[in-house]
Amino acid sequence: MTHAKDDGPVRRIAIIGGGTAGWMAAAALSRVLGPHGPAITLVESEEIGTVGVGEATIPPIQAFNGLLGIDEDDFVRATGGTFKLGIEFVDWRHLGHRYFHPFGVYGVDPGAVPFEAMWRRLRAEGAAGPLSDYSICATAAAAGRFMRPQPGNTPLAHIGYAFHFDATLYARFLRTRAEATGVVRREGRVVDVSLRSTDGFIDAVTLADGGRIEADLFVDCSGFRSLLLGDALGADFQDWSSWLPNDRAVAVPSAVTGPPPPYTRATAHAAGWQWRIPLQHRVGNGYVFAADHVSEDEATATLLANIEGEALAEPRTLRFRAGRRSALWVRNCVALGLSGGFLEPLESTSIHLIQTGIARLLEMLPTRAFEPADTRRYNRLMTTEFDSIRDFIILHFHATGRRDTAYWRHLADMPIPDTLAERIAIYNRTGRVFRETDELFTKTSWLAVMDGQGLLASSYDPIGAALPLAEARAALDRIGQVTAAAARHMPSHQDFIDRHSRAGK
Ligand code: FAD
Repeated sequence: MTHAKDDGPVRRIAIIGGGTAGWMAAAALSRVLGPHGPAITLVESEEIGTVGVGEATIPPIQAFNGLLGIDEDDFVRATGGTFKLGIEFVDWRHLGHRYFHPFGVYGVDPGAVPFEAMWRRLRAEGAAGPLSDYSICATAAAAGRFMRPQPGNTPLAHIGYAFHFDATLYARFLRTRAEATGVVRREGRVVDVSLRSTDGFIDAVTLADGGRIEADLFVDCSGFRSLLLGDALGADFQDWSSWLPNDRAVAVPSAVTGPPPPYTRATAHAAGWQWRIPLQHRVGNGYVFAADHVSEDEATATLLANIEGEALAEPRTLRFRAGRRSALWVRNCVALGLSGGFLEPLESTSIHLIQTGIARLLEMLPTRAFEPADTRRYNRLMTTEFDSIRDFIILHFHATGRRDTAYWRHLADMPIPDTLAERIAIYNRTGRVFRETDELFTKTSWLAVMDGQGLLASSYDPIGAALPLAEARAALDRIGQVTAAAARHMPSHQDFIDRHSRAGK
């Protein structure tokens, strides 16, 4: 006799881990599923702690805040946060060069002609300025200005922004919200994961104090350890270090030395790159590097020599490997955050991947029957997203004129994924950029980085010739003027923070 599968709703969810991933999941699941939904328990171990980094974000986080009903000003105040209009890349194309990867868009498309095709054609005629001149985010960032988008038909309507925040304060902020919506926190160290003998689903986790936590759905937020998905369920790790050899970061906070710029800075060094993330009460700094190319001591010395204010703590080293698990949902376990995979923080995508994982889990919320088609779809969407972000990050390292160290020579010469090679081939011929289905990075991002890193297009997209030259020139000049005027209208970033979200107020 066969038994019908239990198809009832999930009644108990156990989230293992209380870092950014765990508390984001707890806050979102409890808020959306409501007081009559499943009981949610979060297990975390103070003794083990969290990675405690992860402080720069990208614009889709606004949707996550919206889902949680978070007031943005409260959120920025509570996390010592600042606003972010994009990333400045220093010394990536060659030493002494800088470019800006802005949020938002470049210019406006004149009719059916994409902006970038018009720009490139005029660039070839010597009649166009650098891309940044046509981006409100890049122009405002250079002037240290910020405001939220404004209604109307001006560049101010296209301000894209995200946040920098203190990771520890962010986890605390989310924890307060999650506990207020019914999540029960359990302190303890997981020492065993038991699987049902019938189907290999996770039954329960056992804690060091003997406690046992049973659930229908387990969310693995245990960080690099990947206790459930990796260790207990054996999802294998696809290692991407042949493309992304950086495997360590040394991080140190430093004192604030002036008004916070409204952007993250990423500065390339001899064997990696350094982030600078301005917060209200401190600056986050870190050197992400490849241990095969530079020692930890040397990396630490480079970091300390390149921070602006006094170091506020001892430098701390983190170890990682680029890659992801072959599947992120296996049986009754979904991995969010570092337990599912890691891509270095060059484009601030990890927190975003946690957010999309949560959104998709809610979209494909299982019953206790755990429909395999949902699981397959979840895995397909998540792995595709991971892979396209991977390509975007590899682009920064590979498309470079730097040949000054063995590290950069290796990256410039290495074979790259076919998907990225194809994009570069298309760009090299016509300067054409595109967004594949619903991938994260838009045309603006691909164009900013391909142009910024110094890839050359031998011609321009033929559609760029569809506008008469004089008309195109007038349209581009106007976009540049209107963008500059709009940026002048914006308050300074510091004034904006002081008025809306000063920490401690
Ligand atoms: P963790 O913070 O490691 O949390 C794991 C949790 O699991 C902890 O609570 C721990 O106590 C618990 N745990 C582990 N084992 C056990 C056990 N046996 N029993 C009980 N509990 C256990 N992302 C961005 O979006 N932007 C950035 O700018 C950015 N910068 C980064 C810089 C670096 C150097 C690194 C390494 C990452 C960065 N990230 C960034 C990624 C970001 O930090 C992570 O995605 C995010 O913090 C989520 O981490 P996590 O919650 O998955 O893991």
